[in-house]
Amino acid sequence: MEPFNPDLPPVSQAVPEEGACHSGSDRMRAAATAAGKGDTLAQYAADYPVGPHDQPQSMCPAFGSLRVGLRMRRTATVLSGSACCVYGLSFTSHFYGARRSVGYVPFNSETLVTGKLFEDIRDAVFGLADPALYDTIVVTNLCVPTASGVPLQLLPKELNGVRIIGIDVPGFGIPTHAEAKDVLAGAMLKYARHEAIAGPVAAPRNGVSEKPTVTLLGEMFPADPVGIGMLLEPMGLAAGPTVPTREWRELYAALDCQAVAAIHPFYTASIREFEAAGRSIVGSAPVGESGTRDWLEAIGKACNVSSDLIGAAQNTFLPIIRGALEKMPIKGRITLSGYEGSELLVARLLKESGADVRYVGTACPRTAWSAPDREWLEAHGVHVQYRASLEQDLAAMHEWKPDLAIGTTPVVQKAKQLAIPALYFTNLISARPLMGIAGAGSLAQVVNAAMAGKTRFETMRNFFEGVGQGDQAGIWQEVPKDRPEFRAYYRRLIEKKAKAKKAEEMI
Ligand code: SF4
Repeated sequence: MEPFNPDLPPVSQAVPEEGACHSGSDRMRAAATAAGKGDTLAQYAADYPVGPHDQPQSMCPAFGSLRVGLRMRRTATVLSGSACCVYGLSFTSHFYGARRSVGYVPFNSETLVTGKLFEDIRDAVFGLADPALYDTIVVTNLCVPTASGVPLQLLPKELNGVRIIGIDVPGFGIPTHAEAKDVLAGAMLKYARHEAIAGPVAAPRNGVSEKPTVTLLGEMFPADPVGIGMLLEPMGLAAGPTVPTREWRELYAALDCQAVAAIHPFYTASIREFEAAGRSIVGSAPVGESGTRDWLEAIGKACNVSSDLIGAAQNTFLPIIRGALEKMPIKGRITLSGYEGSELLVARLLKESGADVRYVGTACPRTAWSAPDREWLEAHGVHVQYRASLEQDLAAMHEWKPDLAIGTTPVVQKAKQLAIPALYFTNLISARPLMGIAGAGSLAQVVNAAMAGKTRFETMRNFFEGVGQGDQAGIWQEVPKDRPEFRAYYRRLIEKKAKAKKAEEMI
Protein backbone atom coordinates (compact mmCIF):
# COMPACT_ATOMS: atom_id res chain seq x y z
CA MET A 1 0.00 0.00 0.00
CA GLU A 2 1.31 3.50 -0.90
CA PRO A 3 2.06 5.60 2.20
CA PHE A 4 0.92 9.27 2.17
CA ASN A 5 4.42 10.47 2.77
CA PRO A 6 7.21 8.13 1.75
CA ASP A 7 9.72 10.22 3.75
CA LEU A 8 8.08 9.25 7.04
CA PRO A 9 9.33 6.14 8.85
CA PRO A 10 6.95 3.24 9.64
CA VAL A 11 5.38 3.04 13.13
CA SER A 12 8.12 0.82 14.50
CA GLN A 13 10.85 3.35 13.62
CA ALA A 14 9.11 6.65 14.43
CA VAL A 15 11.15 8.52 17.07
CA PRO A 16 9.73 11.14 19.48
CA GLU A 17 11.11 14.67 19.29
CA GLU A 18 12.97 16.30 22.19
CA GLY A 19 11.83 19.56 23.72
CA ALA A 20 9.76 21.65 26.14
CA CYS A 21 9.13 20.36 29.68
CA HIS A 22 11.14 17.23 29.14
CA SER A 23 14.42 18.93 28.31
CA GLY A 24 17.04 18.27 30.96
CA SER A 25 14.99 15.61 32.73
CA ASP A 26 18.11 13.57 33.50
CA ARG A 27 19.56 16.54 35.38
CA MET A 28 16.27 17.07 37.24
CA ARG A 29 16.14 13.39 38.17
CA ALA A 30 19.73 13.47 39.40
CA ALA A 31 19.03 16.61 41.45
CA ALA A 32 15.87 15.10 42.96
CA THR A 33 17.72 11.91 43.87
CA ALA A 34 20.54 13.90 45.49
CA ALA A 35 17.91 15.89 47.41
CA GLY A 36 16.38 12.77 48.97
CA LYS A 37 13.62 11.88 46.48
CA GLY A 38 15.41 8.77 45.16
CA ASP A 39 12.95 6.29 46.74
CA THR A 40 9.93 8.15 45.36
CA LEU A 41 11.41 8.23 41.86
CA ALA A 42 12.37 4.55 42.07
CA GLN A 43 8.77 3.66 43.03
CA TYR A 44 7.44 5.74 40.11
CA ALA A 45 9.90 4.07 37.74
CA ALA A 46 8.59 0.67 38.87
CA ASP A 47 4.92 1.69 38.75
CA TYR A 48 5.04 3.60 35.47
CA PRO A 49 7.62 1.91 33.23
CA VAL A 50 8.72 4.10 30.34
CA GLY A 51 9.78 3.69 26.72
CA PRO A 52 9.67 4.27 23.90
CA HIS A 53 7.47 7.24 24.82
CA ASP A 54 8.85 8.23 28.20
CA GLN A 55 7.97 11.91 28.36
CA PRO A 56 4.83 14.02 28.37
CA GLN A 57 4.01 14.97 24.78
CA SER A 58 0.61 16.22 25.80
CA MET A 59 -0.21 18.18 28.90
CA CYS A 60 1.69 18.50 32.17
CA PRO A 61 1.24 15.21 34.06
CA ALA A 62 0.31 17.07 37.25
CA PHE A 63 -2.98 18.01 35.63
CA GLY A 64 -4.17 14.44 36.26
CA SER A 65 -3.70 14.52 40.03
CA LEU A 66 -4.87 18.14 40.24
CA ARG A 67 -8.13 17.21 38.53
CA VAL A 68 -8.69 14.24 40.85
CA GLY A 69 -8.32 16.54 43.88
CA LEU A 70 -10.47 19.28 42.40
CA ARG A 71 -13.31 16.85 41.73
CA MET A 72 -13.51 15.67 45.35
CA ARG A 73 -15.89 17.22 47.82
CA ARG A 74 -14.37 19.04 50.80
CA THR A 75 -10.85 18.77 49.39
CA ALA A 76 -8.37 21.64 49.11
CA THR A 77 -5.60 21.44 46.54
CA VAL A 78 -2.32 23.33 46.89
CA LEU A 79 0.40 23.43 44.25
CA SER A 80 4.04 24.13 44.85
CA GLY A 81 5.92 24.84 41.65
CA SER A 82 7.09 27.44 39.17
CA ALA A 83 4.56 30.22 38.55
CA CYS A 84 4.35 29.42 34.84
CA CYS A 85 3.48 25.77 35.56
CA VAL A 86 0.87 26.76 38.15
CA TYR A 87 -0.60 29.32 35.75
CA GLY A 88 -0.94 26.66 33.03
CA LEU A 89 -2.38 24.08 35.41
CA SER A 90 -4.93 26.40 36.99
CA PHE A 91 -5.92 27.77 33.57
CA THR A 92 -6.49 24.24 32.24
CA SER A 93 -8.39 23.12 35.33
CA HIS A 94 -10.76 26.09 35.07
CA PHE A 95 -11.08 25.55 31.33
CA TYR A 96 -12.39 22.08 32.28
CA GLY A 97 -14.86 23.59 34.74
CA ALA A 98 -13.10 23.10 38.09
CA ARG A 99 -15.20 25.78 39.87
CA ARG A 100 -12.76 25.55 42.81
CA SER A 101 -9.75 27.56 43.87
CA VAL A 102 -6.32 26.13 43.23
CA GLY A 103 -4.02 26.97 46.14
CA TYR A 104 -0.48 28.09 45.37
CA VAL A 105 2.59 28.57 47.54
CA PRO A 106 5.01 30.66 45.46
CA PHE A 107 8.78 30.51 45.82
CA ASN A 108 11.89 32.29 44.71
CA SER A 109 15.50 31.11 44.47
CA GLU A 110 16.13 32.04 48.09
CA THR A 111 13.12 30.27 49.63
CA LEU A 112 13.82 27.24 47.47
CA VAL A 113 17.48 26.79 48.40
CA THR A 114 17.20 27.78 52.07
CA GLY A 115 14.30 25.43 52.84
CA LYS A 116 11.95 28.34 53.61
CA LEU A 117 9.58 27.07 50.88
CA PHE A 118 8.75 24.04 53.01
CA GLU A 119 8.04 26.35 55.97
CA ASP A 120 5.75 28.42 53.72
CA ILE A 121 3.90 25.28 52.59
CA ARG A 122 3.56 24.22 56.22
CA ASP A 123 2.14 27.63 57.16
CA ALA A 124 -0.32 27.44 54.26
CA VAL A 125 -1.50 24.00 55.37
CA PHE A 126 -1.95 25.13 58.98
CA GLY A 127 -3.93 28.13 57.73
CA LEU A 128 -6.18 25.98 55.54
CA ALA A 129 -6.89 23.08 57.90
CA ASP A 130 -10.44 23.95 58.90
CA PRO A 131 -12.53 20.80 59.54
CA ALA A 132 -15.72 22.76 58.89
CA LEU A 133 -14.57 23.19 55.29
CA TYR A 134 -12.29 20.29 54.46
CA ASP A 135 -11.80 16.55 54.91
CA THR A 136 -8.48 16.64 53.11
CA ILE A 137 -5.74 18.95 51.89
CA VAL A 138 -3.64 17.72 48.97
CA VAL A 139 -0.26 19.40 48.49
CA THR A 140 1.58 18.70 45.22
CA ASN A 141 5.24 19.29 44.47
CA LEU A 142 5.70 20.03 40.75
CA CYS A 143 9.02 19.64 38.90
CA VAL A 144 11.27 22.22 40.56
CA PRO A 145 10.30 21.59 44.22
CA THR A 146 10.59 17.82 43.63
CA ALA A 147 14.04 18.27 42.09
CA SER A 148 14.96 20.42 45.10
CA GLY A 149 13.74 17.78 47.54
CA VAL A 150 11.02 19.85 49.27
CA PRO A 151 10.09 17.28 51.96
CA LEU A 152 6.29 17.06 51.83
CA GLN A 153 6.55 13.76 53.71
CA LEU A 154 7.38 15.84 56.81
CA LEU A 155 4.02 17.62 56.78
CA PRO A 156 1.72 16.54 59.64
CA LYS A 157 -0.50 13.64 58.59
CA GLU A 158 -3.53 15.30 60.10
CA LEU A 159 -4.46 18.73 61.49
CA ASN A 160 -7.68 19.44 63.40
CA GLY A 161 -9.15 16.28 61.86
CA VAL A 162 -8.20 17.35 58.33
CA ARG A 163 -6.05 14.79 56.49
CA ILE A 164 -2.90 16.14 54.84
CA ILE A 165 -1.55 14.34 51.77
CA GLY A 166 1.69 15.43 50.12
CA ILE A 167 2.65 14.03 46.72
CA ASP A 168 5.46 14.61 44.24
CA VAL A 169 4.23 14.78 40.64
CA PRO A 170 7.18 15.79 38.49
CA GLY A 171 7.13 15.59 34.71
CA PHE A 172 10.50 13.82 34.89
CA GLY A 173 9.07 11.01 37.05
CA ILE A 174 5.45 10.57 35.97
CA PRO A 175 5.08 9.98 32.22
CA THR A 176 1.41 10.92 31.65
CA HIS A 177 -1.38 12.84 33.31
CA ALA A 178 -3.34 9.59 33.42
CA GLU A 179 -0.76 8.02 35.70
CA ALA A 180 -0.66 11.13 37.90
CA LYS A 181 -4.31 10.39 38.73
CA ASP A 182 -3.10 7.07 40.10
CA VAL A 183 -0.43 8.79 42.22
CA LEU A 184 -3.10 10.72 44.14
CA ALA A 185 -5.74 7.95 44.12
CA GLY A 186 -3.11 5.50 45.42
CA ALA A 187 -1.96 7.90 48.16
CA MET A 188 -5.57 8.43 49.27
CA LEU A 189 -6.36 4.70 49.26
CA LYS A 190 -3.26 4.05 51.33
CA TYR A 191 -4.28 6.66 53.89
CA ALA A 192 -7.88 5.38 54.01
CA ARG A 193 -6.73 1.76 54.32
CA HIS A 194 -4.66 2.59 57.38
CA GLU A 195 -7.60 4.49 58.88
CA ALA A 196 -9.83 1.44 58.34
CA ILE A 197 -7.21 -0.80 59.97
CA ALA A 198 -7.00 1.57 62.96
CA GLY A 199 -10.74 1.63 63.76
CA PRO A 200 -14.31 2.29 62.57
CA VAL A 201 -14.69 4.60 59.59
CA ALA A 202 -17.61 6.54 58.05
CA ALA A 203 -20.20 4.58 56.08
CA PRO A 204 -20.98 5.54 52.47
CA ARG A 205 -23.43 8.43 52.04
CA ASN A 206 -26.13 6.07 50.71
CA GLY A 207 -25.45 3.32 53.23
CA VAL A 208 -23.56 0.05 52.89
CA SER A 209 -24.57 -2.10 49.88
CA GLU A 210 -26.51 -5.24 50.74
CA LYS A 211 -24.82 -7.10 47.89
CA PRO A 212 -21.11 -7.78 47.47
CA THR A 213 -19.67 -4.97 45.36
CA VAL A 214 -17.19 -4.59 42.54
CA THR A 215 -15.09 -1.43 42.75
CA LEU A 216 -14.52 0.25 39.39
CA LEU A 217 -11.08 1.64 38.70
CA GLY A 218 -10.80 4.56 36.25
CA GLU A 219 -12.78 7.65 35.29
CA MET A 220 -15.73 6.71 33.12
CA PHE A 221 -18.68 8.26 31.34
CA PRO A 222 -21.34 8.67 34.08
CA ALA A 223 -23.73 6.11 32.52
CA ASP A 224 -21.09 3.37 32.48
CA PRO A 225 -21.10 2.48 36.22
CA VAL A 226 -24.92 2.25 35.98
CA GLY A 227 -24.65 -0.06 32.95
CA ILE A 228 -22.04 -2.19 34.73
CA GLY A 229 -24.37 -2.42 37.74
CA MET A 230 -27.08 -3.87 35.48
CA LEU A 231 -24.65 -6.50 34.17
CA LEU A 232 -23.64 -7.51 37.69
CA GLU A 233 -27.18 -7.75 39.05
CA PRO A 234 -28.05 -11.29 37.83
CA MET A 235 -24.87 -12.56 39.54
CA GLY A 236 -26.00 -11.12 42.89
CA LEU A 237 -23.37 -8.38 42.76
CA ALA A 238 -23.52 -4.58 42.67
CA ALA A 239 -21.27 -1.86 41.24
CA GLY A 240 -19.27 -0.24 44.03
CA PRO A 241 -17.63 3.20 43.98
CA THR A 242 -15.57 4.42 41.07
CA VAL A 243 -11.95 5.29 41.93
CA PRO A 244 -10.81 8.11 41.81
CA THR A 245 -13.70 8.84 44.16
CA ARG A 246 -15.67 12.07 44.54
CA GLU A 247 -15.63 11.97 48.32
CA TRP A 248 -13.26 10.71 51.01
CA ARG A 249 -15.68 8.25 52.63
CA GLU A 250 -16.15 6.47 49.27
CA LEU A 251 -12.56 5.30 49.62
CA TYR A 252 -13.54 3.03 52.51
CA ALA A 253 -16.43 1.59 50.48
CA ALA A 254 -14.08 1.11 47.52
CA LEU A 255 -11.69 -0.89 49.70
CA ASP A 256 -14.59 -2.86 51.19
CA CYS A 257 -15.35 -4.69 47.93
CA GLN A 258 -15.42 -8.26 46.71
CA ALA A 259 -13.22 -7.56 43.67
CA VAL A 260 -11.76 -4.63 41.75
CA ALA A 261 -12.43 -4.11 38.05
CA ALA A 262 -9.36 -2.40 36.57
CA ILE A 263 -11.38 -0.79 33.78
CA HIS A 264 -8.43 1.57 33.20
CA PRO A 265 -5.37 -0.64 33.43
CA PHE A 266 -2.69 1.83 34.56
CA TYR A 267 -3.70 2.38 38.22
CA THR A 268 -0.68 0.52 39.58
CA ALA A 269 -0.35 2.29 42.95
CA SER A 270 -4.10 1.99 43.60
CA ILE A 271 -4.02 -1.71 42.74
CA ARG A 272 -1.16 -2.15 45.21
CA GLU A 273 -3.45 -0.81 47.95
CA PHE A 274 -6.36 -3.04 46.93
CA GLU A 275 -4.08 -6.06 46.89
CA ALA A 276 -2.76 -5.09 50.32
CA ALA A 277 -6.42 -5.11 51.44
CA GLY A 278 -6.74 -8.65 50.06
CA ARG A 279 -8.89 -7.82 47.03
CA SER A 280 -8.51 -9.57 43.68
CA ILE A 281 -8.13 -7.52 40.51
CA VAL A 282 -9.81 -8.22 37.17
CA GLY A 283 -8.56 -6.61 33.96
CA SER A 284 -10.40 -5.53 30.77
CA ALA A 285 -14.03 -4.35 30.77
CA PRO A 286 -17.50 -5.32 29.51
CA VAL A 287 -17.18 -3.87 26.00
CA GLY A 288 -18.87 -5.44 23.01
CA GLU A 289 -20.04 -9.03 22.93
CA SER A 290 -16.82 -10.97 23.48
CA GLY A 291 -15.44 -8.43 25.98
CA THR A 292 -18.64 -8.60 28.04
CA ARG A 293 -18.69 -12.40 27.94
CA ASP A 294 -15.09 -12.71 29.14
CA TRP A 295 -15.44 -9.96 31.74
CA LEU A 296 -18.61 -11.41 33.30
CA GLU A 297 -16.87 -14.74 33.62
CA ALA A 298 -13.70 -13.25 35.15
CA ILE A 299 -15.65 -11.08 37.61
CA GLY A 300 -17.98 -13.91 38.51
CA LYS A 301 -15.07 -16.23 39.25
CA ALA A 302 -13.25 -13.55 41.28
CA CYS A 303 -16.41 -13.11 43.38
CA ASN A 304 -17.09 -16.87 43.77
CA VAL A 305 -20.32 -16.71 41.75
CA SER A 306 -21.61 -20.08 40.54
CA SER A 307 -21.15 -20.90 36.85
CA ASP A 308 -24.94 -21.12 36.51
CA LEU A 309 -25.37 -17.49 37.54
CA ILE A 310 -22.47 -16.38 35.35
CA GLY A 311 -24.08 -18.20 32.43
CA ALA A 312 -27.47 -16.63 33.23
CA ALA A 313 -25.95 -13.13 33.13
CA GLN A 314 -24.22 -13.92 29.82
CA ASN A 315 -27.40 -15.36 28.31
CA THR A 316 -29.39 -12.30 29.36
CA PHE A 317 -27.08 -9.61 28.01
CA LEU A 318 -25.00 -11.00 25.16
CA PRO A 319 -27.86 -11.38 22.63
CA ILE A 320 -28.97 -7.79 23.34
CA ILE A 321 -25.42 -6.50 22.87
CA ARG A 322 -24.99 -8.52 19.67
CA GLY A 323 -28.27 -7.14 18.35
CA ALA A 324 -27.24 -3.55 19.13
CA LEU A 325 -23.87 -4.01 17.41
CA GLU A 326 -25.49 -5.51 14.32
CA LYS A 327 -28.05 -2.74 14.16
CA MET A 328 -25.38 -0.02 14.14
CA PRO A 329 -22.47 -1.36 12.04
CA ILE A 330 -19.33 0.66 11.35
CA LYS A 331 -17.75 0.24 7.94
CA GLY A 332 -14.37 1.77 7.24
CA ARG A 333 -10.73 1.76 8.26
CA ILE A 334 -9.77 3.44 11.53
CA THR A 335 -6.55 4.28 13.34
CA LEU A 336 -6.94 5.26 16.97
CA SER A 337 -4.75 6.83 19.65
CA GLY A 338 -5.12 8.61 22.95
CA TYR A 339 -3.84 9.11 26.48
CA GLU A 340 -6.90 8.28 28.58
CA GLY A 341 -6.13 4.59 29.18
CA SER A 342 -9.35 3.32 27.57
CA GLU A 343 -7.93 3.17 24.02
CA LEU A 344 -7.76 -0.63 23.81
CA LEU A 345 -11.36 -0.92 25.00
CA VAL A 346 -12.57 1.56 22.38
CA ALA A 347 -10.59 -0.26 19.67
CA ARG A 348 -12.20 -3.54 20.73
CA LEU A 349 -15.68 -2.04 20.59
CA LEU A 350 -15.02 -0.52 17.14
CA LYS A 351 -13.69 -3.81 15.85
CA GLU A 352 -16.73 -5.68 17.14
CA SER A 353 -18.92 -3.09 15.42
CA GLY A 354 -17.35 -4.11 12.12
CA ALA A 355 -14.69 -1.39 11.74
CA ASP A 356 -11.36 -2.23 10.09
CA VAL A 357 -9.16 -1.09 12.99
CA ARG A 358 -5.45 -1.28 12.11
CA TYR A 359 -3.65 0.59 14.88
CA VAL A 360 -4.31 1.54 18.48
CA GLY A 361 -1.77 3.70 20.29
CA THR A 362 -1.96 4.54 23.98
CA ALA A 363 0.36 6.83 25.93
CA CYS A 364 -0.12 4.49 28.91
CA PRO A 365 2.21 1.59 29.72
CA ARG A 366 1.68 -2.11 29.17
CA THR A 367 0.30 -3.76 32.31
CA ALA A 368 -1.15 -7.14 33.20
CA TRP A 369 -4.66 -5.68 33.35
CA SER A 370 -4.84 -4.74 29.67
CA ALA A 371 -3.44 -8.12 28.56
CA PRO A 372 -6.85 -9.65 27.65
CA ASP A 373 -7.64 -6.68 25.39
CA ARG A 374 -4.16 -6.63 23.82
CA GLU A 375 -4.33 -10.35 23.10
CA TRP A 376 -7.82 -10.05 21.59
CA LEU A 377 -6.85 -7.09 19.42
CA GLU A 378 -3.61 -8.67 18.21
CA ALA A 379 -5.48 -11.88 17.38
CA HIS A 380 -7.77 -9.72 15.23
CA GLY A 381 -4.91 -8.09 13.33
CA VAL A 382 -4.68 -4.79 15.24
CA HIS A 383 -1.25 -3.31 16.01
CA VAL A 384 -1.19 -2.31 19.70
CA GLN A 385 1.37 0.33 20.66
CA TYR A 386 1.90 1.08 24.35
CA ARG A 387 3.65 4.33 25.32
CA ALA A 388 2.86 5.47 21.80
CA SER A 389 4.52 8.71 20.76
CA LEU A 390 2.89 11.32 18.56
CA GLU A 391 5.34 10.32 15.83
CA GLN A 392 4.15 6.71 15.98
CA ASP A 393 0.50 7.77 15.89
CA LEU A 394 1.18 9.91 12.83
CA ALA A 395 3.25 7.20 11.16
CA ALA A 396 0.33 4.77 11.62
CA MET A 397 -2.02 7.25 9.99
CA HIS A 398 0.33 7.66 7.03
CA GLU A 399 0.86 3.93 6.77
CA TRP A 400 -2.77 2.83 6.91
CA LYS A 401 -4.56 5.70 5.15
CA PRO A 402 -7.65 5.37 7.38
CA ASP A 403 -11.16 6.54 6.57
CA LEU A 404 -11.15 8.00 10.08
CA ALA A 405 -8.35 8.92 12.48
CA ILE A 406 -9.32 9.09 16.14
CA GLY A 407 -6.64 10.78 18.22
CA THR A 408 -5.24 13.63 20.24
CA THR A 409 -5.30 17.25 19.07
CA PRO A 410 -2.07 17.13 16.98
CA VAL A 411 -3.12 13.87 15.32
CA VAL A 412 -6.52 15.32 14.42
CA GLN A 413 -4.84 18.47 13.10
CA LYS A 414 -2.52 16.47 10.83
CA ALA A 415 -5.38 14.27 9.66
CA LYS A 416 -7.43 17.28 8.63
CA GLN A 417 -4.47 18.63 6.65
CA LEU A 418 -4.49 15.35 4.76
CA ALA A 419 -8.28 15.54 4.24
CA ILE A 420 -8.81 12.52 6.50
CA PRO A 421 -11.91 12.79 8.70
CA ALA A 422 -10.80 12.85 12.35
CA LEU A 423 -12.32 12.80 15.83
CA TYR A 424 -10.84 13.91 19.15
CA PHE A 425 -10.56 10.93 21.45
CA THR A 426 -11.00 12.85 24.70
CA ASN A 427 -13.89 15.11 23.73
CA LEU A 428 -15.88 12.90 21.38
CA ILE A 429 -15.11 9.28 22.19
CA SER A 430 -14.52 9.36 25.97
CA ALA A 431 -17.72 11.37 26.36
CA ARG A 432 -19.89 8.39 25.43
CA PRO A 433 -20.91 5.15 27.15
CA LEU A 434 -18.68 2.23 26.19
CA MET A 435 -19.79 -0.56 28.55
CA GLY A 436 -22.48 -3.20 28.29
CA ILE A 437 -25.74 -2.57 26.47
CA ALA A 438 -25.49 1.23 26.35
CA GLY A 439 -21.96 1.00 24.94
CA ALA A 440 -22.87 -1.36 22.09
CA GLY A 441 -23.57 0.81 19.08
CA SER A 442 -22.97 4.09 20.94
CA LEU A 443 -19.92 4.97 18.85
CA ALA A 444 -21.50 4.14 15.49
CA GLN A 445 -23.43 7.38 15.06
CA VAL A 446 -20.50 9.74 15.65
CA VAL A 447 -17.99 7.53 13.82
CA ASN A 448 -20.19 6.96 10.74
CA ALA A 449 -21.12 10.65 10.59
CA ALA A 450 -17.44 11.62 10.69
CA MET A 451 -16.49 9.13 7.96
CA ALA A 452 -19.32 10.38 5.77
CA GLY A 453 -17.68 13.84 5.86
CA LYS A 454 -14.73 12.74 3.71
CA THR A 455 -15.94 14.59 0.59
CA ARG A 456 -16.30 17.81 2.62
CA PHE A 457 -12.65 17.54 3.65
CA GLU A 458 -11.63 16.99 0.05
CA THR A 459 -13.66 20.01 -1.07
CA MET A 460 -11.97 22.09 1.61
CA ARG A 461 -8.54 20.85 0.67
CA ASN A 462 -9.17 21.63 -2.98
CA PHE A 463 -10.50 25.07 -2.07
CA PHE A 464 -7.37 25.95 -0.10
CA GLU A 465 -5.03 24.30 -2.60
CA GLY A 466 -2.26 26.67 -3.63
CA VAL A 467 -2.35 29.04 -0.63
CA GLY A 468 0.92 27.66 0.64
CA GLN A 469 1.88 25.70 3.73
CA GLY A 470 3.57 26.40 7.06
CA ASP A 471 5.49 29.70 7.09
CA GLN A 472 4.36 30.39 3.54
CA ALA A 473 0.61 29.91 4.10
CA GLY A 474 -1.57 32.89 3.23
CA ILE A 475 -1.75 35.69 0.65
CA TRP A 476 1.56 37.52 0.36
CA GLN A 477 2.88 40.34 -1.81
CA GLU A 478 6.17 38.60 -1.45
CA VAL A 479 6.06 34.98 -0.23
CA PRO A 480 8.52 34.46 2.67
CA LYS A 481 11.61 32.63 1.47
CA ASP A 482 13.37 30.06 3.56
CA ARG A 483 16.96 31.13 4.34
CA PRO A 484 18.81 27.98 5.38
CA GLU A 485 22.12 29.78 4.84
CA PHE A 486 21.29 32.20 7.70
CA ARG A 487 20.61 29.34 10.09
CA ALA A 488 23.78 27.58 8.98
CA TYR A 489 25.80 30.79 9.54
CA TYR A 490 24.54 31.26 13.09
CA ARG A 491 24.97 27.60 13.90
CA ARG A 492 28.62 27.84 12.82
CA LEU A 493 29.01 31.01 14.92
CA ILE A 494 27.62 29.28 18.03
CA GLU A 495 29.83 26.23 17.50
CA LYS A 496 32.87 28.50 17.09
CA LYS A 497 32.10 30.32 20.34
CA ALA A 498 31.58 27.05 22.18
CA LYS A 499 34.94 25.78 20.93
CA ALA A 500 36.67 29.01 21.98
CA LYS A 501 35.09 28.75 25.45
CA LYS A 502 36.23 25.16 25.82
CA ALA A 503 39.76 26.10 24.76
CA GLU A 504 39.78 28.91 27.35
CA GLU A 505 38.66 26.50 30.08
CA MET A 506 41.53 24.14 29.22
CA ILE A 507 44.18 26.84 29.64
S1 SF4 B 1 5.41 20.93 36.42
FE1 SF4 B 1 7.05 20.10 35.12
S2 SF4 B 1 5.98 18.97 33.48
FE2 SF4 B 1 4.48 20.33 34.46
S3 SF4 B 1 4.49 22.23 33.23
FE3 SF4 B 1 5.94 22.51 34.92
S4 SF4 B 1 7.95 21.89 34.09
FE4 SF4 B 1 6.36 21.05 32.70
